[in-house]
Amino acid sequence: MRLPNDLRETANEIAPGVVADRRDIHQHPELAYEEKRTSTLVAARLSELGLDVRTGVGGTGVVGLLRGRRPGKTVLLRADMDALPIQEENQTPYTSRHLGVMHACGHDAHTAILLGVARVLADHRAGIAGTVKFMFQPAEEGGAGALRMIEDGVLDDPAVDAAFGLHVDTERYVGQVALRPGPAMASSDRFTITVRGKGGHAASPHRTVDPIVIGAHIVTALQTIVSREVSPNQPAVVTVGSLVAGTTYNVIPDTATIQGTVRSYRDKVRRHVEERLTEVARGIAGAMRATAEVDYRVGCPSLENDAEMVELVRAALGDLLGTEAVLPREPVMGAEDFAFVLQRVPGAFMHLGVRAPDWETPRPVHTATFDLDEEALPVGVAALAATAIRFLASDRS
Ligand SMILES: [Zn+2]
Ligand SMILES: [Zn+2]
Repeated sequence: MRLPNDLRETANEIAPGVVADRRDIHQHPELAYEEKRTSTLVAARLSELGLDVRTGVGGTGVVGLLRGRRPGKTVLLRADMDALPIQEENQTPYTSRHLGVMHACGHDAHTAILLGVARVLADHRAGIAGTVKFMFQPAEEGGAGALRMIEDGVLDDPAVDAAFGLHVDTERYVGQVALRPGPAMASSDRFTITVRGKGGHAASPHRTVDPIVIGAHIVTALQTIVSREVSPNQPAVVTVGSLVAGTTYNVIPDTATIQGTVRSYRDKVRRHVEERLTEVARGIAGAMRATAEVDYRVGCPSLENDAEMVELVRAALGDLLGTEAVLPREPVMGAEDFAFVLQRVPGAFMHLGVRAPDWETPRPVHTATFDLDEEALPVGVAALAATAIRFLASDRS
């Protein structure tokens, strides 16, 4: 295959269009499974490029198929399209126009970058042996959008041989990309514990079964699952993010509700935490004359990068950006829906530096003041395009 040696240049040439798409999407953020405007824009762009387009995949997902001139393998590239329920505080020409909704995780950039990749590769169609499948997924933020697209056939017809994706990285600078082989991101589950006691007058606690005190005991006891029952060599997190009970100072309520998340890497650890969390909550509630109902929802699995695919990405990005720009990465307890794809096909997920050279502190994702340096967009386009080209040209089948 003819490798476009001017990939950075090509990406820079189309950068104004990528930036315009990113700003357009940023101004019109949509929550999980509501990405109607975004998916319409994506489908229109892909159609203009002459790709085969399927819409409504797994809800609001879009799939574009770019068939090279010659037969070969199939590589999948993925972006996510959903925004977060956050009120944006930035004042820019492209600030969110939707009240209380913001692209605070960079999915606007992911979508615009992947549209840029489609444009670059469509121009190089003559040099491509094989197929590039573009996956634009809904609901990455806890909605299992990738899983719904898989159930709707995104990995089939043609079957996908490898998959790649990227996420903005607010710690690293523009021009840098980071990734690691093996386990890279954690599995993510959520739980709700409803403690039912018996309410009454705050001055007569002996006539009540106080769900607040019982709830507090449960929250404290949950801290011992990771610290006393999981091997220190195995990463795990149990975090209570919400504890809600009562309405005023002098009434003991009937119920207390505890919500939280469980993160881990190993299935064995994950199952142990789920089992023990349920036993501890029910046991403590029972011992204190209340009941606890536990609703445990299994979310996305841990994300595993294929070692060989990581090497392939490193080689492609080393040529593209210089080897010093391709950094290692520590595993994190954050989760990523793309894990559902990497559970089924080999591939790699990379983190794209989006911090401007003069930003003394990062602007973290999931905050009302998140933003990125748009100079990173053409870097992302070139990185994903180079990865796809490298995979299709490789011996790996
Ligand atoms: Zn996010
Ligand atoms: Zn994200």
